[in-house]
Amino acid sequence: MTEIRPRLCQAPELPPPSILDYRPRSTLVTTEHKVPRAKYPAIDFHGHPSGSWLESGDSLARLGGALDGINVRVMVVANDMSGDAVRRSAAAIRASGAMKDRVRILAGIDFHDVGPGWAEKAIAQLEADVAAGAVGVGEIGKELGLSIRKADGTRLRIDDPALDPVWAACARLRLPVFIHTADPEEFWQPIDYHNERWLELALFPRRRYPPEQFPSFEELMTERDNMLRRNPKTTFVIAHMGWHANDLPRLAKLLDLPNEYTEVGAVLYDIGRQPRAAHDFFVRYQDRILFGKDSFQPEEYPYYWRVFETRDDYFDYYRPYHAFWKLYGIELPDSVLKKVYYRNALHITPGLPQAGWP
Ligand SMILES: [Zn+2]
Repeated sequence: MTEIRPRLCQAPELPPPSILDYRPRSTLVTTEHKVPRAKYPAIDFHGHPSGSWLESGDSLARLGGALDGINVRVMVVANDMSGDAVRRSAAAIRASGAMKDRVRILAGIDFHDVGPGWAEKAIAQLEADVAAGAVGVGEIGKELGLSIRKADGTRLRIDDPALDPVWAACARLRLPVFIHTADPEEFWQPIDYHNERWLELALFPRRRYPPEQFPSFEELMTERDNMLRRNPKTTFVIAHMGWHANDLPRLAKLLDLPNEYTEVGAVLYDIGRQPRAAHDFFVRYQDRILFGKDSFQPEEYPYYWRVFETRDDYFDYYRPYHAFWKLYGIELPDSVLKKVYYRNALHITPGLPQAGWP
């Protein structure tokens, strides 16, 4: 294996610590601007509150309290729900009084057993879910592409033409399609000491994608991009910046397609480690980027606000196994913040509450 570390002139005299233990405190003296609440009300397009938050007026009121603390006005629930689950949650939201305009639901699509008659059934279910209150589709999970099989036993490709009638129905019903494809590219790479996600891969066996069991990262990206190009009338929101937040020129090519949007959930470590490039990217693609958080832990949102709103240097990230580096603020202008926080989501999602935004 090639040695990529700078060589030391001699071996350390003390035993080196493990990466689990080495947490040096920063001696950097610099101004800090903590941002507990977003500067403008935000829409979380990638909400994953557990079902218990959506059950009743009481639990919804508690959710509202948590959202108020971070200035998220609307949570879009991307829990891949359909049928009864959509009906029950939408009814609870409508009946909740104060929360009735603060939570919206995306409908899930069941991609199992695609074969003759599948599309008609899926579209009928989608229409029923929209009638019950769903405002978009998602989150389509990474299993589409990675593991789901067709009725004939073969792997369901993301660009399988059998899915096209459903994408067309989403365009007709004006539903944005929120889709997560693959995972960080390092999950396909050898788990060695050059892998940026070594610790995460060591912690979570299910995030390893050995080539004999799974399609490659590039195969999945190719299928996704074929599907996007073949369905230009459908609005897609590519979750997690398409796993290209570490390769913004590649993401730029995707966003140059007129029907593509993207979302920033769970990739803050890549935005915050390239403050100048990320700033320029967000300004250039300000009409295409939506805020979303992914796992619902209210105490983690302020890290996003701080990266987007400040020019702070070298501060901690919230999830040590994602990244071994610190974050920097990208200081977005107010006009861009408003688009990322809520305007772009409102623009592509007619079913979101459209009134009363700044
Ligand atoms: Zn998600």
